[in-house]
Amino acid sequence: MMPLPLAQLMDQFRRLPGIGPKTAARLAYHVLGMEREKALMLAQSIITAKDKISYCSVCFSLTDEVPCSICRSQARDHGLICVVEEPRDVAAMERTRGHERNRGFQGTYHVLQGTLSPLDGIGPEDIRIKELVERIQSGNVREVNMATNPNQEGEVTATYVARLLKPLGIQVTR
Ligand code: ZN
Repeated sequence: MMPLPLAQLMDQFRRLPGIGPKTAARLAYHVLGMEREKALMLAQSIITAKDKISYCSVCFSLTDEVPCSICRSQARDHGLICVVEEPRDVAAMERTRGHERNRGFQGTYHVLQGTLSPLDGIGPEDIRIKELVERIQSGNVREVNMATNPNQEGEVTATYVARLLKPLGIQVTR
């Protein structure tokens, strides 16, 4: 028999991805052992992130200012769009900017917020493909780089989008 608030805290941790019952218990006991002020900071960080962060209206990455700093930047090449699956891919690309492999990427991004996955019932209308097409049709985009993951869903998505963009007269690279 454990106190109900403790059981509820464990239950909340268990709902998080990659957290099993043992880890959930460890986290819950850890939080109980924290100073109240530290626990409050943790809770406040969750609420602040939820309240302040939204999707960029242009690239659909996560931002605390719409449009995001990359989409607003005059220093970025808005004629080049790198298409990725998730906001965390943008963060990863930006982290490696300046590294050898990714040196000089001055373009912008488009986050699809997923991949096509017919088996899971995820079609073109479920991810941000329409928004990408609209963005290309209304702007001076000359090149789109499909940087989806090199797995089956990523390949299927890249192929589908490339075929869709071809008639728009822009260069599509993988
Ligand atoms: Zn943006």
